[in-house]
Amino acid sequence: MVVGDVTTAVDVLIIGAGPAGYVAAIRAAQLGRHVTLVEADSVGGVCLQRGCIPLKALLSASERYQQMRQESLAEMGISAETVSFDWPSMQAWKQSVVERLVNGVQRLIAGNRIELLKGTAWFINSEEMRVEGEELSHRLKFEHCVLATGASAAPLPDLPYDGQQVLTPEQALQLTELPAKLSIFGSDYIALELATLFARLGVQVRLYTPGDQILPDVDATPLRLVQAGLRKLGVQIATKADIAALDERPLVVSNGVRPNTARLSLDEAAIKITEQGGIIVDSMQQSSVPHIYAVGDCTGSRALASIAIKQGKIAAEVLSGQRVQFAPLVVPLVVHTTPELATVGLSAEAAERAGYSIITGRFPLAANGRALTLGTDAGVATIVANKDDGSVLGATVVGPRAGDLIGQMSLAIEMGATLTDLSEIIYAHPGLSEMLQESADHALNQAIHILR
Ligand SMILES: Cc1cc2nc3c(=O)[nH]c(=O)nc-3n(C[C@H](O)[C@H](O)[C@H](O)COP(=O)(O)OP(=O)(O)OC[C@H]3O[C@@H](n4cnc5c(N)ncnc54)[C@H](O)[C@@H]3O)c2cc1C
Repeated sequence: MVVGDVTTAVDVLIIGAGPAGYVAAIRAAQLGRHVTLVEADSVGGVCLQRGCIPLKALLSASERYQQMRQESLAEMGISAETVSFDWPSMQAWKQSVVERLVNGVQRLIAGNRIELLKGTAWFINSEEMRVEGEELSHRLKFEHCVLATGASAAPLPDLPYDGQQVLTPEQALQLTELPAKLSIFGSDYIALELATLFARLGVQVRLYTPGDQILPDVDATPLRLVQAGLRKLGVQIATKADIAALDERPLVVSNGVRPNTARLSLDEAAIKITEQGGIIVDSMQQSSVPHIYAVGDCTGSRALASIAIKQGKIAAEVLSGQRVQFAPLVVPLVVHTTPELATVGLSAEAAERAGYSIITGRFPLAANGRALTLGTDAGVATIVANKDDGSVLGATVVGPRAGDLIGQMSLAIEMGATLTDLSEIIYAHPGLSEMLQESADHALNQAIHILR
C-alpha cells in the first residue's frame, strides 16, 4: 500500500469492522474478492467491544451469583453461606471474554487475507475514499464499497451523556464502581437487561419506561412473568415516565441509536440518507449509488447484531455476483432477564391486527419435567398460528435457555411449518424444547401434560 496522496486501487473496500463489516469482509474474501477493511477503533464493533458480549458476560456472572443465594439451593441440599462477588474481578473476566473473541476475529481477518487498515474513512467522491490514521493517510479508489459504520446512542436534547451522572448503556457497562442506586430510562431489551444485571448485584434499580408497558409488542402472559421476575429482584417499575421530569442520578438512558454517517461526507458521493441519517438501501443492501452498499446499524434498520451479520453477508454476495436479498420472515428477540424471554414472529395481538384468524396454544414451564430438574418453574411457551392452515406465525418462550430454544421457532416459521409438524416430530426427553411441542399440542387441543 502506497502512503501519501497517491491513489491506490482496491477491489472491495469495507468501512467498519463491527459484526456487519467484518462478516461482509470474510464472506467477500471467501468468494474470491480482494478485501480492504478499514476500522477507526478496534475490530468487533459495539457488539463485541461494548454491547452484546460485555452485557451478556456480566449478566451470566451476576446470574450465577444470584443462583448461589437462592433458597432453592438449600432445598437441593447445597449450602453456600459466604457467597460474595467482586465487581472489578467480574469486569476483568468480562474483558477477558471480549479479548478472546476480538482475537478470534483478528485471526479470521488475517487468515482470510483481508488487508486491515486502522484509520477513519470518508468519501472524496463516489469512487474514492480518504483513510487517515495515526500513521497513515491513503486515497483509495474502489470497485465496490461496503459501509458498515454502525450507530451510537441517540443524543437527548438538554441531557448530554457524561458517563457519570447520565450514561448510555455502553457507559453503564464500564462503571468502575457499583452505585447504591441506579435509575434506568427505557423500555427495550437493553434497559431490562441492565436493570436485571444491577439489581442482581444489590443495586437499588428504578426502571422508568416511556410508554404503557415494558417491551411493547410482547403478549401479556409472558410479559407478566418478566415483570414479576424484575419485581422479585427489587426493581421498581414506573410507566408513562417523562425523561425531562426525571432528576434522579445516576441515570442510564436506553433511547435507541443514531447512525454513524455524519462524518462520512456522503454528499461527496451523492449517497442518499433518511431524515435520521440512516443510509437508504434496497433489499440487496445497495445504496442510491449501486456500487456502494450499506449494512448494519448505519442503515438505520433495527439495531441488532443478528441483522447486521446477515446484511453483511448479503452485500458481499451481491457484489460478488450472487442473486440474493435480505428478506427474513422473522427476526428473533431475546431478553436476558430472570426468567429469560425470547420471542419471534407475531404476538397474538399483532397477528389479529394483521388480519389473521388465529389459534393460540400455551404450556407452562411448571409442567415440564426438565424445568423441574433444573430447579425452576417460572415460565411459559406460547404459540400463535394461522387458523386457516395451522402455519406457525409466532412464538414466545419464557424460562431457562429461552434464547437458545427460540431458534427452533424461527426455523419453523421460515420453513412454513404447521402446528401438526411441530406435534409430530420427536423431541429429546426430558427437555425444555418439549414445551414448544406441548404448546403446539395445546393449540390443537391435544396437550398431554396439562388438563384440557
Ligand atoms: C449495550 C448493548 C447491548 C446489545 N446487545 C445486543 C444483543 O444482545 N443482541 C444483538 O443482536 N444486538 C445487540 N446490540 C446491538 C449491536 O451491538 C449492534 O446492532 C451491532 O453492533 C451493529 O453492528 P454494526 O457492524 O452495524 O456496527 P458497530 O458494531 O457499531 O460497528 C461499526 C464499526 O465501524 C467503525 N467506524 C465507524 N465510522 C468509521 C469510519 N468513518 N471509518 C472507519 N471505521 C469507522 C466503528 O469504530 C465500529 O467499530 C447491543 C448494543 C448495545 C449498545
